[in-house]
Amino acid sequence: MSDLPVATYDRVSVSRNGRSVSCEEQHKDNADCLNELNLKRGARYSDPGRKASPGAPERPQWNRLMDAVRAGLWGGVCVWDIDRATRDGVVGASMCDIVGQHRLTGFRVISASTNEVFDLSAQEGAAAFMTRVMDGEREVIKLRRRVARRMRRKAKAGETTGGPRRRFGFVDITTGTLHAAEAALIREAATRILAGERIGAVARDWAERGITTPEIRTNDGTRIVHKGGVNFTIQALKQQLRRPALTGHTRFSEGVLVGRMPGERTILDIPTWLELQSTLGSARRGRPATDDKYLLTSLKLVTCDSCDSRMSGHSPTDRAPRYRCCYNPNNVGAKGCGQSISAAGLEELVQEAALEWWIRAARRGHHARPMDLDQEIQHLRRRLEIVQQTYVQELERLAPDMHHLLTVLVNEITRLRTEIEQRTSANDLIKITEAAVIGNWNIGMDDHDPARRANRRRMISQAFRTIRIRRFNDGPDRRPTFDRSRVLIQLSDEG
Ligand SMILES: [Zn+2]
Repeated sequence: MSDLPVATYDRVSVSRNGRSVSCEEQHKDNADCLNELNLKRGARYSDPGRKASPGAPERPQWNRLMDAVRAGLWGGVCVWDIDRATRDGVVGASMCDIVGQHRLTGFRVISASTNEVFDLSAQEGAAAFMTRVMDGEREVIKLRRRVARRMRRKAKAGETTGGPRRRFGFVDITTGTLHAAEAALIREAATRILAGERIGAVARDWAERGITTPEIRTNDGTRIVHKGGVNFTIQALKQQLRRPALTGHTRFSEGVLVGRMPGERTILDIPTWLELQSTLGSARRGRPATDDKYLLTSLKLVTCDSCDSRMSGHSPTDRAPRYRCCYNPNNVGAKGCGQSISAAGLEELVQEAALEWWIRAARRGHHARPMDLDQEIQHLRRRLEIVQQTYVQELERLAPDMHHLLTVLVNEITRLRTEIEQRTSANDLIKITEAAVIGNWNIGMDDHDPARRANRRRMISQAFRTIRIRRFNDGPDRRPTFDRSRVLIQLSDEG
């Protein structure tokens, strides 16, 4: 048995019968339990208000606790209910790995509500613990299956599977009650696109006419689901036009509209809707790949000092590439002020400053995550973002085979979260050297090598907090190709 004190952990979570036990209650039970077992009590870690549902934020205190465990600070962890904790994905198989890898002799997991103690460093204790973890996982899968089955049944019967009743075009989607003005807008968009207009032109026109998304509340009206008042992006408009609900159906499955919804009136008739789908599907032009042309766009670091918009790569027809202030999400019209700066000049300056920062950091004995690990984490984060977006979209659009897809997505979200949490542990930091900095900076064949560009982006994003561009406001006569004094840089270690 370890002599080290045992840390306690509590978080908000709902028990099997739907009752939630407050963090304070849990903490008191945890403390009592450790007293009874005659164990020294260590620090309390608490993640109040965080639930293990898809899209929920990561658990910062749990991560801190795991870092401390890896560092050998605690002789164990006390949670309120082991079953609940495993089901929530807090205590899992990774605990056994940590204990094994770091050879934490006598490390225990204690369940306060059931007075159980598992010694993870002993074979028997670890086996008993793993059985509980597996049971927890099974329970989660069963739960998800039940939800998926219910959704599938509802969709077949023509019922919408949850979500707010108010949707764009509908006052109440469950009864098929249309919102006359919005329904007319959807018909207008469909007609224009079928007549050959590009969806982007329609979206722009809507923005100019001040047509925005409606506010959407939960069905009891207490909570706002979507704030509304946002312009339709191409993506959002396309999503609206793709909904089978426009024809009064819940699903579009293998080329057939199924699940007739209640309500007599529909927004689009079936032939129009089908034709629209094939038109939208064939216009697979999408956005040009600016990411590779512009080093800084995807970093979201460059901001317009005069109006606070993001500045991104832009290719004018008559001049060299520039970064331009063109979209301001905080502004009503969402338009930026339009100022721009030479892309070549800015990229050169930023790269110079970034490399300098890294060399200085190496001289100071700065610690950083090893490059490959960092890339892996970034890759996982990007993937998580995409999966989460897809999850939200699928929920909204009642896709065919959605139940299965949702289950897959939830599993994937959980897996990615765990993996990111494990990999961001502070223990993996290593001391960087000047040689390593220069090696990383110049990786690959040349400046167009994708590996080099990816790596530079990574190093740039770590070196800067902000890059702000001031407006060029001198006389109209001679505008320099690149004016360094317009660039205001804040490095990431500056206050
Ligand atoms: Zn601006």
